[in-house]
Amino acid sequence: MKDKKIYRLKDLSLDNQRVVLNEAIFHNANGYIGVRYDFEEGYPDGYQITRSQYINGFYDYAQMPQAEKLFGLPETKQVMLNVADTQEIRLFLEGEQFSMYSGTVLDFKLYLDMDRGVTIREVKWRSPKGKEAHIKITRMASLHQLPLFLIEYQVKPLNFSGEIIIQSAHNGNVTNYADTQDPRTPCAFTEYLTPISCELKDGASFITSRTSASGLEVCSCVKNVLSQQNQSEFIIENNRAVCIMKATAEQCKEIKLAKYAVFCDSIRYEDCRLQALEEMNLALSVPIDVLHHKQQGHLHSYWQNCFINIEGDDELEVAVLYNMYQLNQSVSKDSFGNIAPKGLSGDGYEGQYFWDSETYIQPFFTITNPADSKVLIESRFIMLEHARANAAIMGHKKGALYPWRTITGQESSGYFPAGSAQYHINGAIAYSIIAYYLATKDINFIAEKGAEIIFETARLWIDTGNFYHGEFHINDVTGPDEYTCIVNNNYYTNVLAQYHLRWAVKFYTMLKEAGLLDPVAKKIKLKMIEIRQFIKAAEAMYLPYDKDRKINPQDDSFLQKKAWDMSSIPRENFPLLLHYHPLHLYRHQICKQADTVLAYFMLEDAQSIETMRNSFRYYEKITTHDSSLSPPIYSIVAARLGLEERAYQYFGDSAKMDLWDLHHNTKDGIHTANMAGTFLTIVYGFGGFRLKEQGISFWPILPAKWTNYSFKVLFENSRIDVKVTDLECILTLEKGKCKTVRVYGKQYCLDGKLTVKRPARSKKKEKHEISSSYI
Ligand code: BGC
Repeated sequence: MKDKKIYRLKDLSLDNQRVVLNEAIFHNANGYIGVRYDFEEGYPDGYQITRSQYINGFYDYAQMPQAEKLFGLPETKQVMLNVADTQEIRLFLEGEQFSMYSGTVLDFKLYLDMDRGVTIREVKWRSPKGKEAHIKITRMASLHQLPLFLIEYQVKPLNFSGEIIIQSAHNGNVTNYADTQDPRTPCAFTEYLTPISCELKDGASFITSRTSASGLEVCSCVKNVLSQQNQSEFIIENNRAVCIMKATAEQCKEIKLAKYAVFCDSIRYEDCRLQALEEMNLALSVPIDVLHHKQQGHLHSYWQNCFINIEGDDELEVAVLYNMYQLNQSVSKDSFGNIAPKGLSGDGYEGQYFWDSETYIQPFFTITNPADSKVLIESRFIMLEHARANAAIMGHKKGALYPWRTITGQESSGYFPAGSAQYHINGAIAYSIIAYYLATKDINFIAEKGAEIIFETARLWIDTGNFYHGEFHINDVTGPDEYTCIVNNNYYTNVLAQYHLRWAVKFYTMLKEAGLLDPVAKKIKLKMIEIRQFIKAAEAMYLPYDKDRKINPQDDSFLQKKAWDMSSIPRENFPLLLHYHPLHLYRHQICKQADTVLAYFMLEDAQSIETMRNSFRYYEKITTHDSSLSPPIYSIVAARLGLEERAYQYFGDSAKMDLWDLHHNTKDGIHTANMAGTFLTIVYGFGGFRLKEQGISFWPILPAKWTNYSFKVLFENSRIDVKVTDLECILTLEKGKCKTVRVYGKQYCLDGKLTVKRPARSKKKEKHEISSSYI
């Protein structure tokens, strides 16, 4: 039986590059706190380590001075903070200090158990003087008590009895990491948090720190519990509390330290010091086994809704599950946070939230654990007031414009051509709310929160665009491809705006009929004339089409630009953003990521198969995939177009992105949007799943390398397991009421089990039914 949900580190080297990568790959998080994976005992001098721990949505303001102060450019940004370090544990065996870099490491294992929600390091170590010990360290960020991070440190002397000293530290002196050469990371090492107190109470240390500009506080509390009698003392110095425990160890008898750490911030809790005390008491009130049991219970429910099984590629299967595991670790469980591109695993993109949440990550949660999607939408709802203010700054008379990068809802993007100009984020947020509705039919939530966002952001399209020769144009915006900035009529933006406007009208009618419209309409003073404007603009929306090439141009000027043969670019010059001036990139037909092709994934019914196929071929040649967001989308659309081999290659690129460190920057954090993309490649790509107004449908294909695979989707609270074999597609209703589903274009009522014969391979070209309109 294979250990499907265990990821074991194969490359056991201890060099700087590897350990810093492990910091991200093996980090522990629960959507609230995230702790990078560091050796508790530290590293040799000179190693460059990013030993950090974060709280989702806990931020400070940082200066972002603009050299040329043009009107409306933001001068401050929000940055997620590195909070107190509770990781340090030093072990001395009769005076000899344990280190992976001294003595002899006789055995070493590092693995992530995705059923138990723990990272485990096991080491058999021989000291320079010959003492041998087995050390096992288990780390867990609790999924049921979010402020809790626990380290269990077990030591078993193998060939001696004698004195063991354990020094366990709690350190309030922390700085945010930076890489001055990479624009995707912070550019200066900054100390945002100032410790205001470091104290002891009942054997626990408390460190409270204050931010420099946002007026927030965080308190962390640490308690060390040793399994056997010991002498202990505390040294408190310079906002660092060290607990020193001395014990006599017996050969072959294990000693165990349980190091409890809790983190509470003043965004969520009125008195974070008091809350930390309560959280600590709560954690200590039950045996550790209970904590593990609950952790496992949480993960059991999680996997029940989204587990993917692949027979035929064990390596990629573990990678797929790893990616899905990280989404649960990263997503905020409350609406004070959201999900950052790096989750809670690194400082990349400063912990700010992007469209990644709605375009890539929400589609995963919406059809597996929709409650998480709802929280993400609620988090955008809280930001709506800032989005209105942002729209006003950008010169709009009405409506809301979500910022490109943010923690609080205020714009944190310093480079507006590839930042604030990406108005399509409004469409992404609307799209995710529509999808949430399609999957849950939760009209009350739409009435309470969703509709206000949809209407306010729809208003912005009307204010941004204008009619020209009878067509509605949206000018001077940037689409998803950040190598082509500030353009007129980006196809992706326009088609998404059209869909958004049509749904604004639909929701208006639906809410009116349900008697739920008044509160929201009154609140935002929505008038009937605006609904007519939505209809008119949507119907007249200009969608660029090139008659000669029979493709959708990415925007009005894209096809006029210089070609740039990608094969002529030296490999070391990728990603291009680190080697070429932006204007050089903008003047060429070169794409950082899926743009028009992304529109084909999200809104496939807007174009014919022929146009999509021609465009796919066109853009594939000029897309660098410098953004990790790109390969999964190419995979899904390739599968849609019958290009199975291409689909499989892109799927591999997506699945392997972090575990193989394909972009050489996983050290700065995992790539959560791509991780969700991996799931989408299987479900939407190979599984041919679609969630539309007409209902749900499947058109599964079987990648040549696989014997079979299965996945699950949750639709209107019914869970459907889909197994795809060489000959059949078997749907099982695992929970909930019977549902109408379409499989290979034919309608069935699924109640129990349904087996459908798979079409013969040769006939599988044009797979998905195409309806004339998608609303
Ligand atoms: C991509 C953006 C993305 C951001 C964060 C950038 O490289 O171009 O589309 O939102 O990374 O993941």
